[in-house]
Amino acid sequence: MLARIRFGAVSIFALAAAATFPAHAGEVTDDMILKDAVTPTSVLTYGLGTQGQRFSPLKQINRDTVKNLVPAWSFSFGGEKQRGQESQALVNDGVVYVTGSYSRLYAIDAKTGEKLWQYDARLPEGILPCCDVVNRGAALWKDKVYFATLDAQLVALNAKTGKPVWKKAIDDFQGGYSETAAPLVVPTKTNGTLIVTGVSGGEFGVVGRVEARSAETGEKVWVRPVLEGMMGTYKGQETTMTGKVNETWPGDMYKFGGGATWLGGTFDPETGLVYFGTGNPAPWNSHMRPGDNKWTSSRIAIDPENGDLKWGFQTTPHDGWDFDGVNEFIAFDLNKDGKTIKAGATADRNGFFYVLDRTDGKFISAMPFVSKITWAKGIDASGRPIYNDDNRPGDPTKSADGKEGAEVFSVPSFLGGKNQMPMAYSNDTHLFYVPSNEWGMNIHNEPVAYKKGAAYLGAGFTIHTIFDDHIGSLKAVDPVSNKIVWEYKNKAPLWGGVLATAGGLVFAGTPEGYLKAFDDKTGEVVWQFNVGTGIVAPPISWEQDGQQMIGVTAGWGGAVPLWGGDVAKQVKDINQGGSFWVFKLPQKTASN
Ligand code: CA
Repeated sequence: MLARIRFGAVSIFALAAAATFPAHAGEVTDDMILKDAVTPTSVLTYGLGTQGQRFSPLKQINRDTVKNLVPAWSFSFGGEKQRGQESQALVNDGVVYVTGSYSRLYAIDAKTGEKLWQYDARLPEGILPCCDVVNRGAALWKDKVYFATLDAQLVALNAKTGKPVWKKAIDDFQGGYSETAAPLVVPTKTNGTLIVTGVSGGEFGVVGRVEARSAETGEKVWVRPVLEGMMGTYKGQETTMTGKVNETWPGDMYKFGGGATWLGGTFDPETGLVYFGTGNPAPWNSHMRPGDNKWTSSRIAIDPENGDLKWGFQTTPHDGWDFDGVNEFIAFDLNKDGKTIKAGATADRNGFFYVLDRTDGKFISAMPFVSKITWAKGIDASGRPIYNDDNRPGDPTKSADGKEGAEVFSVPSFLGGKNQMPMAYSNDTHLFYVPSNEWGMNIHNEPVAYKKGAAYLGAGFTIHTIFDDHIGSLKAVDPVSNKIVWEYKNKAPLWGGVLATAGGLVFAGTPEGYLKAFDDKTGEVVWQFNVGTGIVAPPISWEQDGQQMIGVTAGWGGAVPLWGGDVAKQVKDINQGGSFWVFKLPQKTASN
């Protein structure tokens, strides 16, 4: 199992960390963070490894034994705050850490499901989350557990007691900033271990950025805005500008230009780079901001030592459909034409699956992973979309009354070919398992002006289905041949994320309440269990006292019921919830 470790740079960090911070029992070290993907006794990072592959090396639960899988325990989040539960849990030293809606965090005994402590953030009146009161997970380091809250605060708690150690404001929630992503822990050579976060609020004209703080003290180390013309900072001093002023943005539009980095990032120890996706340019009405509007709707790579921008790749230049670009960028080795390339893959909301060289951001390939895409004819050899110009919502200033531009029907919808739900990469099959949705939208543009704390869209829209029998579609994507190997169709939209395992299985939840296991080679459903409410969170797996466990957060909600148009009506009868479920094989079956 340990033979899978390929992190050349790990040992340097590990030695430096060990010299500075001697580990105590149960504490999470830099070395443990960097080896998370190959250490199945714990789950220390969002993504089951900082590269975000979501692959568990465990195989006690496999194609043969999975039929015997039964619940071990279930934990209720309690209260009346039953909204979308999008959290990926962490596990360390026999404790499960899981976040809940309305910025709550629970520590639970991993063997029994008994609550150890609970932290409820006291949220002020007037928070402005765009897409339900969700949280996607926590981070662990040393004796602390970290998470970010809907009022844009970053909180560090003592992992044993749940008592706050420090709390830092990421930004002003009254300006439309909020925070929902799991923080990213990144060991560095120059500034110790950092907690790296983005910002939410792309629908309110915020300034998208990535920033890093000392994991020990919460002091800010660097800030990297993603919008061209904005200055980065290092320890409070201005450093380098992102791009050049007005190169791809007109006038002052970039100053409220969005690019929210709301889904968090990944870290690749092999390249030493932090990868983030950046959201839609603001406002949605693209006629107000001619140009590519860099680096919105992009993937960017940042040097965690100083916050410098190393490369950017824009998936949707001049985005006019809220395709964002935040989707996770997952490092993997691409074996193609007899070469091994340090690649990264990402399934964009715009409906295309991209493979890039993760050392320099160079385009390698793209393929559509949803059908009936309208806004682009394809992706050219440089990675740029070949637009269908007549599928861009029309300019309202060219309409008769100046109030509403021509409406178009676009596929995917603005909720995307894929949204927040993370995909997985199997180290065995070398396939990506992409939770996607097939849907479209009517969209038109309207005039809009920036006002602090107000929605900054300039668009009206309604989502519609494009197939009678399904919206959700879990697909196995081959990044070498650019082919879809298998597809599983689900009636309701998939919103929950995926886990792949060495047991030859892929786990994913559905809004209908099923946690399902699929054969990773064929897509056949080999096991399912209904948890009684929709699943919109990614499953995890870990080993507890010699037994493989599967865990998943349950609780229907998220953006679909709020923004889903016709689709929201279809799923309105799904009951809400708030719980964490754990499954294992019966002792007898496990020891056979
Ligand atoms: Ca957006």
